[in-house]
Amino acid sequence: MFYFDNFYGKKVLKSSLLDGIDCFFTTREFVLTYSSREDLKTESEENREFLLNKLNTDNLITAKQVHSTDIEIVKNGINFYDNTDALISNIQNTVLLMNFADCIPIILYSKKDKTGAIVHAGWRGTAGEIARKTVIKMNEELNINPENIIAVIGPGIGKCCFETDYDVFEKLVKNKSDKKIYEQKENKFFTDLKLLNAKQLSECGIKNIDICSYCTCCMSDIFFSYRKENGYTARHSAVLKI
Ligand SMILES: [Zn+2]
Repeated sequence: MFYFDNFYGKKVLKSSLLDGIDCFFTTREFVLTYSSREDLKTESEENREFLLNKLNTDNLITAKQVHSTDIEIVKNGINFYDNTDALISNIQNTVLLMNFADCIPIILYSKKDKTGAIVHAGWRGTAGEIARKTVIKMNEELNINPENIIAVIGPGIGKCCFETDYDVFEKLVKNKSDKKIYEQKENKFFTDLKLLNAKQLSECGIKNIDICSYCTCCMSDIFFSYRKENGYTARHSAVLKI
């Protein structure tokens, strides 16, 4: 279940599945990444400092997200990963941060292993199965049993607003008989990216999955939306402290 909470006075969204873990999605009120909104640069920088101060660490790990399916396991001493769309860490006292404006944020965490990941899954990442690949990498390289992983699929563009032509739809939806995944209106397609990612995760053996119903495009008063704001927007963030 998702609920709004406040992080020392700043509005954030949390999942009850990860209560007790420093883990949340930020909102417009707590911008950490300004992107094309130069006017929010100072506010973002101040908020990052505030975040690390409150989380009691200066070990912030980020990436240049490029809609790839490249996944990195964080190494000691490296805080920035180029061209990476999922970060996995088992280094304690690190804070993973990834940024979103309609794309689907996914947080994975094993309490038993004290290991987590953040995945950036836009339509390209979803089609390339980055969520599935991240779970497989956690399993193969860090020996984490998917049954111990909690998955939280955060706020992102909903089926209501993710309208595409057939070319994108075709890459995303393999099983066209599954009518829960999409709707067709004339020659336009509306695909549920969150559900597609949830399917990948459950097929990997993850049992606890929380899916946020909020559409960032419908709720652009609270979250940033690339589509609604025609690209001129900042980012909300997924934050996970290991
Ligand atoms: Zn919507």
